[in-house]
Amino acid sequence: MKIAVVGTGYVGLVSGACFAELGWHVTCIDKDRKKIAGLKKGNIPIFEPGLRTLVIGNMRAGRLEFSESLADAKGRDAVFIAVGTPTADGSRKADLSYVFAAAKELCRHLDDQVTVVVKSTVGTGERVKEIIHKTCPRLTFDMASNPEFLREGCAVQDFLKPDRVIVGVESERAARKMAALYQPLKKKGIPVLFTDVKTAEFTKYAANAFLATKIAFVNEMADICEKVGANIEDVATGMGLDHRIGADYMKPGPGYGGSCFPKDTRALDHVAEELGVPTRIVSTVIDTNEARKVAMVEKVAAACGSLKGKRIAVLGLAFKANTDDMRDSPALAVVPELARRGAKPAVFDPEAMQQAKPQLKQKSILWCASAEEALKGAEAAVIITEWEVFRKLDWKKARQAMKKPIVVDLRNILEPADMEKKGFYYLSIGRRPAGRKPKL
Ligand code: NAD
Repeated sequence: MKIAVVGTGYVGLVSGACFAELGWHVTCIDKDRKKIAGLKKGNIPIFEPGLRTLVIGNMRAGRLEFSESLADAKGRDAVFIAVGTPTADGSRKADLSYVFAAAKELCRHLDDQVTVVVKSTVGTGERVKEIIHKTCPRLTFDMASNPEFLREGCAVQDFLKPDRVIVGVESERAARKMAALYQPLKKKGIPVLFTDVKTAEFTKYAANAFLATKIAFVNEMADICEKVGANIEDVATGMGLDHRIGADYMKPGPGYGGSCFPKDTRALDHVAEELGVPTRIVSTVIDTNEARKVAMVEKVAAACGSLKGKRIAVLGLAFKANTDDMRDSPALAVVPELARRGAKPAVFDPEAMQQAKPQLKQKSILWCASAEEALKGAEAAVIITEWEVFRKLDWKKARQAMKKPIVVDLRNILEPADMEKKGFYYLSIGRRPAGRKPKL
């Protein structure tokens, strides 16, 4: 089968490369000419473990190619739309203009009987169908929805070995085609669930809202643990061993970020309100999560006293480890708040520096080339992203380099007893502080 994927971002590029790996002939199309020119030379525009090998291997095998022209969607059996659906400026709703624009332009190049598959997270795939009907009234096509559940940082693995695949269709023909496309995964025992288009779309929103709620819930429990002197790590493990609850997404932290949970919860909240069924749970999750990101600075202030004029090492900017994605990262709330309170944030991230720079414009920010440089002379360190390099850092040496031995670990990547032994005053999430507070 020959397919095209429109939009070569985190989802489109991973999906395209993985479909090629499953044996299909794939053309990945993006309007970003620079990105496509780079990809043709084997330059991967994002940091995603395993992706480079997959892209290059499949290009060499002749199964994967790149194009900046939607005209190259011609002659394909199925075309996936995987463009972005960010939050529209100044509102909570998803900006679907990229999806609609892609559909409108795309349909002029399609052949009859093609299946147009919306992979982007949308709640109104119906509009795509209307747009195509209106723009290309003679085209016979089938609509399908195939929301993507991959996680950045392990996207390749998630695509090739997902918990499930959800497909929404309106016709037998599209169902047959989608079943054939995912047959290699079905053969491995992956459940492929067929339903209607609206249900498929809503499944994605509901799943993301639930996971966001799980994280917000654990964070709330962590705050209570801090007050009662309990340990959230053990609480979460104890809860997670109950298979009705499950151990995943039970890690406390500075609030969820990333390209999906914030925007999808906002979009769901907006759509629900418009439909007259306003959410209470989801809207509370959104509010508490946003407030939490800024409130993390309170923890730093509680440890350091006034932040004015103090160099604070910020370790990690990406919204989570193993990605360079900065979208809705807690760092985008924490760093400006540190700066607003007069601190000098000395920031470092192993992969996201380039993405972070245009989004963090505060003059007092010091951009460092390594964690060691950020820690030098710092009066405290804040760990925002759970990168393995920070866990493995020589903290004994770091203590010598820092002006004050204070670490605020917003990801619980270090052991309190160990940090105390190394001479730190160590604060984390939902666990008792360790070590002695230094004289300020
Ligand atoms: P992205 O911003 O990384 O990539 C989108 C790409 O689409 C960009 O390269 C852009 O240039 C391209 N594009 C936009 N309009 C185009 C057009 N008319 N023609 C050709 N290319 C066009 O977005 P993403 O993170 O890959 O997300 C894509 C969709 O998948 C979103 O709806 C998102 O919610 C969903 N999703 C994302 C993730 C994730 O982890 N990133 C996971 C699951 C689902």
